[in-house]
Amino acid sequence: MEVDVKVEPHNIDTSLATPTAVRQLVASHGFIFRKSLGQNFLIDGNTLRNIIRAAEVSKDDTVIEIGAGIGTLTRALASCARHVLALEIDARLHPILQETLIPYDNVKIVAEDALRVDWHGFWEKYELSRAKLVANLPYYITSPLLLNMFFQDLALDTITVMVQKEVAERFTANPGTKAYGTLTILAGYYSKVEICQIVPPTVFMPPPEVDSAILKFTMRPYRLEAADPALLRRVVKAGFGQRRKTIANALSQGLGNTIPKAKLQDILQSCDISPQRRAETLDLQDFVVLSNRLAELW
Ligand code: SAM
Repeated sequence: MEVDVKVEPHNIDTSLATPTAVRQLVASHGFIFRKSLGQNFLIDGNTLRNIIRAAEVSKDDTVIEIGAGIGTLTRALASCARHVLALEIDARLHPILQETLIPYDNVKIVAEDALRVDWHGFWEKYELSRAKLVANLPYYITSPLLLNMFFQDLALDTITVMVQKEVAERFTANPGTKAYGTLTILAGYYSKVEICQIVPPTVFMPPPEVDSAILKFTMRPYRLEAADPALLRRVVKAGFGQRRKTIANALSQGLGNTIPKAKLQDILQSCDISPQRRAETLDLQDFVVLSNRLAELW
């Protein structure tokens, strides 16, 4: 039986997380960074250790990584996890990964686009039970990827990802702020969210234009259960789709005028929500109560 060894920083393989290692690998393979694929590679061992620590990766874990790059985080994960499944869309990086991952026989490179993966099929194909997702995400896929993974109710324990700081703030925002919106409510429905660390551009090569953040989602049973989660998502999107309008007007339009406005106002009032309020003043509980009331109608 495997013993659950708590990972200590000195066990983590950070050997690729230096400017010299990245520069040499990239040069020897004639690799040119592609901005459109969010290719900002980690060059800082401390940041790498902090990602692994935040994710609490142990020898019991199967880890899914999105965007392996040249294998910097992949190697660190492989040194602490039982098994790593690392997706990388860019075929130019596959020969580099074959080289950098030679010391590890517990890694599988998956040449797929993370936005097109059938995740339930993926779970079956690789015979996964529970898994953790850990990634330094290409920024352009952050919101669609994470929302898709939430909605599919996968057997994930945690998702620990490097994202743009501004996006991290949208996931963790308080009601009434500009950052508060669809991402905040939907992430809050599926998980407990926390920002673990703010990270400067200098830890990446090439450096991005903005700060980043290590963001951790701990998936959990719903505190408040939506009778119809797809309807909850529609209501949240409708509410924030017209965030300057009153919630009554935003819902009326956003739900395609399927419910007469007077009826919507009655429904809102029966949920103790003034029809004059805006979506940004409603919390997760308000949205769940409201969508459950609407579910009774449909
Ligand atoms: N993990 C490496 C690191 O930390 O240094 C690289 C991270 S880099 C921010 C993001 C990586 O994701 C790139 O290697 C890029 O080619 C890859 N990528 C971009 N879009 C992707 C997609 N849709 N599916 C899978 N990988 C993708």
